[in-house]
Amino acid sequence: MLCRGSLRNIRNLHSSAGCGSEYDIVVVGGGIVGLAVAQEITNRSNAFKVGLLEKENELATHQTGHNSGVIHAGIYYKPGSVMAKLCVEGMKATYSYCDQHNIPYKKVGKLVVATNDLEEQRLMDLWERANKNGVPDIELVDSSGIKAREPACVGTKAIWSPHTGIVDWGRVARHYGTVFQSRGGKIHTNFEANEFSAVDDGVKITSQQGEEVRCKYVIACTGLYSDRTAKLTGCDPEPKIVPFRGEYLLLSPEKSKLINGNIYPVPDPRFPFLGVHFTPRMNGEVWLGPNAVLAFAREGYTWGKFNIRDLSEVLLYPGFYRLAGKYLGYGLDQMLGSIFINRAVKELKKYVPQVEASDICRGPAGVRAQAMNTAGDLVGDFIFSSGEGELGSRILHCRNAPSPAATSSLAIAHMVVDKMEQQFNIQFK
Ligand SMILES: Cc1cc2nc3c(=O)[nH]c(=O)nc-3n(C[C@H](O)[C@H](O)[C@H](O)COP(=O)(O)OP(=O)(O)OC[C@H]3O[C@@H](n4cnc5c(N)ncnc54)[C@H](O)[C@@H]3O)c2cc1C
Repeated sequence: MLCRGSLRNIRNLHSSAGCGSEYDIVVVGGGIVGLAVAQEITNRSNAFKVGLLEKENELATHQTGHNSGVIHAGIYYKPGSVMAKLCVEGMKATYSYCDQHNIPYKKVGKLVVATNDLEEQRLMDLWERANKNGVPDIELVDSSGIKAREPACVGTKAIWSPHTGIVDWGRVARHYGTVFQSRGGKIHTNFEANEFSAVDDGVKITSQQGEEVRCKYVIACTGLYSDRTAKLTGCDPEPKIVPFRGEYLLLSPEKSKLINGNIYPVPDPRFPFLGVHFTPRMNGEVWLGPNAVLAFAREGYTWGKFNIRDLSEVLLYPGFYRLAGKYLGYGLDQMLGSIFINRAVKELKKYVPQVEASDICRGPAGVRAQAMNTAGDLVGDFIFSSGEGELGSRILHCRNAPSPAATSSLAIAHMVVDKMEQQFNIQFK
């Protein structure tokens, strides 16, 4: 809902009584989205006192620090969607930000490779999408064009995207935090926002340890916990977050030399994820993956990590069974692939036949905050919501920021802060 209340002098808050820190605006969540938003607020004005709360003792520890590290060019997303628009804008903004601040990246490019007639048809649909999305300088290449770019890769046809790159998203996010702090922003780590309450003309946020922070307005960017944060503030608990782990395999250093850039399969449009891909890392490693298996905890980076509350919430959620009904075969296949590496190797050999099981070992994993509705549909686009009344109307929740939200982070931040101006009736300029 949009709150168009009267313009209040939000600086009055600094003089109001209360313990703990006091801010005009507090961002909850020190992942790349929260940090980009905090930075963007300070890009627009230094007139506001802004704080950021992060439950861990470091920034960028969850999705932002556990991902493929790809700077996406915007090929896949539904034309006209916010996601498609923000990815293309975000990619361009990321490259200029990294150039401006000397953050290393590599524009290694990407091939989306078809290996048979059906995949070629799907590739052409993707080609159309990518063009509608304005993905810059893409080319359609044949098998010799594939070989010219990736000599070890086989395929019949591919989309070549020269502007797809790689970067350490954790480093980028921490840099946003450094810029934010250099402009007077304050970061509180080890602060898990556990309770939100309305106080005179503002919001009180209390941590698990009982510390308090007060502010006029809150932007919540809590990733894997976005539904719970919304519920804590009296906002709609839907969409629900269902955690899906993405596990990576590591290619041996010797075989890694065969891979120049990102090699992706043509995604099967019936399934929600992009498929197992070859991704070079900034440190020279090559990661293979990620798959997509249900995680038994929101921070369930391994099969052994189990959280009763997290798992029971998923199992009691009707949308989960509807999703499982739709993707049962796919889900089982992903689970088997997770247990038996050879299944993944077979898939990978389709693209790079020289890869053998002996070249591969298990690697790290990330957990996707997958937003889902009660119908069991995975929510694709970004979602924002607020609540009613004194508390809810002072909070803007970023409910769903799935991949490529790291790539899009600067563009998302721009949109979020525009939304804040509108919703909270704040003038930053
Ligand atoms: C396996 C995988 C691969 C991916 N690959 C790519 C890729 O190659 N390119 C790309 O662009 N995107 C990729 N993504 C997506 C991208 O990583 C995420 O979209 C992005 O990191 C989301 O950022 P975020 O800030 O919303 O969430 P997060 O990074 O999860 O940050 C949320 C933060 O909020 C904190 N928090 C939660 N609750 C509270 C609370 N109550 N109080 C205080 N703090 C709280 C958490 O500790 C966390 O630090 C990938 C994601 C995954 C999981």
